[in-house]
This record gives sequence, C-alpha cells and structure tokens, in this order.
Amino acid sequence: MNGLDAFDKVSLGVFPTPIHRLHNISRLLGAQIDIKRDDLTGLGLGGNKVRKLEYLMAQAKAQGAQVVFTTGGAQSNHAMLTAAAARRLGMTPILILKKRGVTARQGNQLLEHLMGVDVRFMDTDSYADIYAEMDRVGAELGVPYYKIPCGGSNALGTLGYVDCVREIAQQGQYDHIVVAEGSGGTMAGVALGAKLFMPGARVHGMMVDTDPFEQITVDLMRGAAALLGAQVSVSADDFTLRDMCGPGYAIPSEEGNAAVAMMAQQEGLFLDPVYTGKAFAGLAAMAREGAFAPQERVLFIHTGGAGGLFAVGV
Ligand SMILES: *Cc1c(COP(=O)(O)O)cnc(C)c1O
Repeated sequence: MNGLDAFDKVSLGVFPTPIHRLHNISRLLGAQIDIKRDDLTGLGLGGNKVRKLEYLMAQAKAQGAQVVFTTGGAQSNHAMLTAAAARRLGMTPILILKKRGVTARQGNQLLEHLMGVDVRFMDTDSYADIYAEMDRVGAELGVPYYKIPCGGSNALGTLGYVDCVREIAQQGQYDHIVVAEGSGGTMAGVALGAKLFMPGARVHGMMVDTDPFEQITVDLMRGAAALLGAQVSVSADDFTLRDMCGPGYAIPSEEGNAAVAMMAQQEGLFLDPVYTGKAFAGLAAMAREGAFAPQERVLFIHTGGAGGLFAVGV
C-alpha cells in the first residue's frame, strides 16, 4: 500500500475538525449521535470539498496550472470552494456552471462575485459539453490549465474522505457513519476509509440526487483503493444507501426542511436544504426505525452547504 501520505496535499483548511455530541437530538431520537464538524473546514464557509481540494489542487500546482476550471449547478458549494482555493494559491478560477438552480447574486453566487470569479453558465444538462468547453477556453487562453470534475469526485479527490476517516479514528470509535451523497466522492472516501481505518463501522449514504450511486460509489472506492495500492475487495456490501432526494436535486423536501429546523431548534446549528438537511432526515428516519441500538455510537458528518442555505432557502 502506498498509503495516504504518499500523496501531495496543499494546506487549505484547518484540521482536525471537531466532533461533539448532539445532546438534545440524541435524547429526542433515543440514540447516541455525534457530529463531525466538516462545516468548519476553514476555507470559505467551510464544507467537505476542502478535503478533496487539498489533493486536487496539489496536483494542479504540480502540473504548473495557472487556470483551474470546475463545474456544478449555479449554487454549487464545490465550485465556490474551488474558486476560494484557487484564489488562496494564486491560480485563476474559471467556473463553467450548469444554468440550473438560483443564478441570481445570492448564496454561492454572491461569494463568487466577492472573489471576483469568472463565472459562465451553460444551458445544458450534460457535463460532457462543459468539459469540452473547458478545453476550448483553456486552449484559447494558451496557459496551463487543470480541470476538476463536478464535486471533485474522482479517485484523487476521494482520498480526502479516506483521510477524514483516519482523522475520525483518532477522535473516537463509531458503529455507524452517516453522510450525504451528491456526486459520490465523499461517501466513497468514507466507505473506503472505514474499511481501512474503522472496520467495525457501517457507512450509510443519503442520496440527494437520482444518479446510479451504488455503481458510482463502488467505482470511486476502487479507483481510490488502486491509487493507494490497498489490497481490499470493494463491493456494494460495504455500505447502505437511502433515497432522500425527494422532489429533486437542489429542491428542498419536507423531510429535509424538518431536519434543518430540528437541528436549528435543538442544537443551534445550521444544516442546508440541498445536502445535509436531507441527509440528517435520513439519519432521523433510521433512528425512528430502530436501526441504531442504544449502546451504538452514530456519527453524522456535517458536510457544510451554508452558501446554498441563503440562496435556496427552506
Ligand atoms: C458536495 C456536497 C455534498 C456531497 O458530497 P459528494 O462528494 O459530492 O457526494 C454534501 N454536502 C454538501 C454541503 C456538499 O456541498
């Protein structure tokens, strides 16, 4: 195994992020529920993409990139954080976003405006069109450029959450880890990380979109395991998935909004309507179904999303 430490990282965040008990919600749901505060990763408004970007931006830097492209929806937290990372490292971010969702100067669009980012919208549902446009723009600029896929979810970005589970294992032992799944890299990293560093933990992905996540997760886990040279056999038995998408990606759901309100009212913490609210609603549903035994410890990874909260609302 090459191990995680064989891969270059740039320092963008503040780690380790804290873990603490959700006392009121634990009492309410009759389970021991802790929260991993990856909403406090320390760049921009925080969020899970910072861990992936520490690996991806190291590769961009090593390749001498002057321009960094990425994509997502109009309120992509990932796109905003990629722009913030590029600014920090003195590279020029160019965001080519799907013209889907709230394009007004609110939420992440406001933050990108403040960072002076070149944001372009493409009226397409195909990321292939967008990656082709990145190559066209990059060639036109004539400078070395680096393309980061939607959500930073490739094998290299997935290492960020393998690393996160290594960090969690230093902070406590868990029987269940629950996380949102949007483009897959976070969940895949957590599932592979659990295999390597916390084999007793069961990993539950809460799907907030309608993509074929079982295959996506297994593929990303295998890609990351291959990078690490880890001798593990990966399959869909390594995790469970639950459909929490509701009316559609980036469209708030009743259950998700109830979870956002519960977290705010019980704990004074803010989830977002697109990812973490829906994911926590899934955790609450599992608790009510009796999926967590009283002595078991449950960890929810708060993956951020504050920008979206102010644009999408609940
Ligand atoms: C991107 C994102 C996720 C999902 O992570 P993926 O690696 O894309 O599956 C979850 N929560 C928030 C707030 C995000 O921005």
